[in-house]
Amino acid sequence: MAIQSINPATGAVLKTFDPLDAGEIEAKLALAATTFASYRRTTFAERAGLLRAAADLLDAERHDIAVTMTTEMGKTLASAKAEAAKCAKAMRFYAEHAETFLADEPLDDPSAVGASRAFARYQPLGVVLAVMPWNFPLWQVTRFAAPALMAGNVGLLKHASNVPQCALYLGDLFARAGFPPGAFQTLLIGARQVEAVLRDPRVAAAAVTGSEPAGQSVASICGDEIKKTVLELGGSDPFVVMPSADLDRAATVAVTARCQNNGQSCIAAKRFIVHDAVYAEFSRLFTEKMAALTVGDPMVEGTDIGPIATEQGRVDLEELLADAVAQGATVLCGGKSPAGPGWFFPPTVVADVTPAMRLHLEEAFGPLATLYRVPDLDAALEIANATSFGLGSNAWTTDPAEQERFANELVAGAVFINGMTTSYPELPFGGVRRSGYGRELGAVGIREFCNQKSVWVG
Ligand code: NDP
Repeated sequence: MAIQSINPATGAVLKTFDPLDAGEIEAKLALAATTFASYRRTTFAERAGLLRAAADLLDAERHDIAVTMTTEMGKTLASAKAEAAKCAKAMRFYAEHAETFLADEPLDDPSAVGASRAFARYQPLGVVLAVMPWNFPLWQVTRFAAPALMAGNVGLLKHASNVPQCALYLGDLFARAGFPPGAFQTLLIGARQVEAVLRDPRVAAAAVTGSEPAGQSVASICGDEIKKTVLELGGSDPFVVMPSADLDRAATVAVTARCQNNGQSCIAAKRFIVHDAVYAEFSRLFTEKMAALTVGDPMVEGTDIGPIATEQGRVDLEELLADAVAQGATVLCGGKSPAGPGWFFPPTVVADVTPAMRLHLEEAFGPLATLYRVPDLDAALEIANATSFGLGSNAWTTDPAEQERFANELVAGAVFINGMTTSYPELPFGGVRRSGYGRELGAVGIREFCNQKSVWVG
């Protein structure tokens, strides 16, 4: 895949970049390693000052970088601005809390291990490679970079090949904030150049957010090299609606949960599993609200849904839908890509989905929702968990016993009751099964790329 900015709303190629050659990659690796040797000795207060400076710059530049995001990957300008603001907030969150999250953890009773003093200490691992996707071009990177830099690691960013301008912006942002050269560098490289970087002894670990194949590849190479990985991969999150739910509110949130980011979010709700008693009413409300969304130019205020980020992404959606329709699924709204330039795909609701359909099992990365009718909670849980993924999940019920069952029995890295799955800097984020492993965000997220060193003093 060429490293290119292509405006998905028009198909126009905006800029093309040459990937780094072996010599340029070597120079960046050498700089990263040298920088780590000194950067790791900086204090939390020093790092926090730098990260707050990055947050301030990002706030000041919010409009311009939002325009870059929108023109490179098609999210609405309003959501791009919100993404930039969320990144600044997460940077300030880790600037404030990293020292507490990584404080020494002393044993209450060191004599139990024959010591006068014993504690766990968190120390940085070194150079960490982040392989990142295009869907939240700033947020996915920030979620990695803010804790990694506060822990004293240094970062290398291999961003998706369709968002090179966002990638370059991020490297530049951290440099202008005052981080030492080499603390955070963008590597404009293709996927095939990743292996050599991972195998370099100066690289200690890797984080991947993206597809299963990308995760498998990076994790196999890192397994071979015995290097730590954190994987945040795809999802096909369930959204269960029980009879006690506020149906109008649930339908409104369902639309946002499915269509946020033009439907291209790993934690988007994708499968809507509705109790028989409220199925007719919920499906009517949901379909009406989906059909009422405005699809169009993502730069224009009032647009709800912009284009799919890549031409292939739209083809994938069309193929999933065609397979389902050929096998008897019913399209309740949408379903037909508009003619004309740009990779637009309308909000689409599909009912009568059966396990034989690809749409039942595979992740639909766009505004394409499936509806299931179930007789009771057990059946809802069965369908919700009948997936190879386990990222987020959503359940709507006011019954405390049902809430408890969903919290306990949904197989996922997160369960949101009467709300939609969202990432917050304060809460751990990640999945189980083929959605990946390890956690980002929260206190646990910053510890992933640390050596948890036991110190024993006799
Ligand atoms: P990819 O996984 O292909 O891209 C994500 C990142 O991984 C990019 O930087 C990409 O580089 C890199 N990459 C891809 N293959 C390899 C490899 N073998 N070794 C090393 N790096 C690799 O995602 P796509 O953009 O193709 O999206 C396809 C699917 O991925 C979606 O349908 C969705 O399921 C999932 N996805 C999940 C996301 C999430 O947030 N969890 C985000 C985006 C996608 P390059 O761009 O150069 O190929």
